[in-house]
Amino acid sequence: DGYIDPRFTFENFIVGSGNEFCHAAAQAVAEKPGAIYNPLYLYGGVGLGKTHLINAVANALISKNNYRIAYRTGERFTNELIQAIRNGSTDNFRNQYRQVDVLIIDDIQFIAGKDRTQEEFFHTFNALYEIKKQIILTSDRSPRDLTNLMERLRSRFNWGLVADIQPPDLETRLAILSSKAELAGVHMDRDVANLLATRITNNVRELEGALTRLTAHATLTGRTIDVTFARHVLRDLLHEEIRAISVEDIQKQIAAYYNINIREMSSSKRSRTVAFPRQVAMYACKELTTMSLPEIGARFGGKDHTTILYAVRKIAKMRDEDEDFDEEVSRIIAQLRR
Ligand code: ADP
Ligand code: MG
Repeated sequence: DGYIDPRFTFENFIVGSGNEFCHAAAQAVAEKPGAIYNPLYLYGGVGLGKTHLINAVANALISKNNYRIAYRTGERFTNELIQAIRNGSTDNFRNQYRQVDVLIIDDIQFIAGKDRTQEEFFHTFNALYEIKKQIILTSDRSPRDLTNLMERLRSRFNWGLVADIQPPDLETRLAILSSKAELAGVHMDRDVANLLATRITNNVRELEGALTRLTAHATLTGRTIDVTFARHVLRDLLHEEIRAISVEDIQKQIAAYYNINIREMSSSKRSRTVAFPRQVAMYACKELTTMSLPEIGARFGGKDHTTILYAVRKIAKMRDEDEDFDEEVSRIIAQLRR
């Protein structure tokens, strides 16, 4: 922790909605450190790839040139300073940081509220910035939302490029999963991938954790990873979703919401006025029950599992792309959970 990790590279970073801007910014900085976006400030929720991206920059720079890179977490930077003060070696501390080409601080939010550390960082920042050395910072919050941060620092954090990283959409989650599964050398069928990607939605680290657990269980028990197995192994993770909501409830409420007859849920009519609510209901079944795609299909008048998968993906994609619709579906789901 707090050191450059050679496993985090651009090659194994999956680009998709949510992270493409940060990814492009990181690549641009890796191409020409100090030249364009200085500082580069990446922020966003936990487990979304910030640490991965800044390590990718560091690794790219290492492989390309003899760049001198100081990579620290905000915490380690703080601890080093405390040590230096204790040992009376603050001059060393300073010099060490002022001789680098690239300074990377992960989780800079850690120094907020720590006056001496902020003061020290402020001077380091200025010294490096003046001679056009690259500074890269990550945080869980935007500069504006970092309370307890010195105004002078806040303003400097905004001097370069501030980019936020968002949770990946369904397609990106599926792509990340399949890439990680391939790296781990495990086979995961579509239903399992879909189960994980539709249930674990806002954190790549958790997605990875789920895959790791599945892999370990499969290896240790010699079983293949199918949906039933995945549900069992990950029951605590998926627990939140496992509630006794019946398909009938879902169909009834969604039919009422969209003003259609509940019988249309199982019909094969394709007109949009009924097909669309039906797809929303299929999506809700996947979200709110533990049923498999074929099981859900059976409850919608014997539809094929691919029809359900199509609906689930379509609605998820629409939610990603249309904020109003996303809110609408959230409301429907929240109501069903009540
Ligand atoms: P953060 O620093 O934003 O909390 P991390 O960079 O530590 O998140 O990412 C958590 C885990 O998820 C890491 O193992 C990382 O490799 C992985 N990860 C996150 N986003 C991606 C992505 N787009 N492609 C591949 N792996 C990713
Ligand atoms: Mg991190």
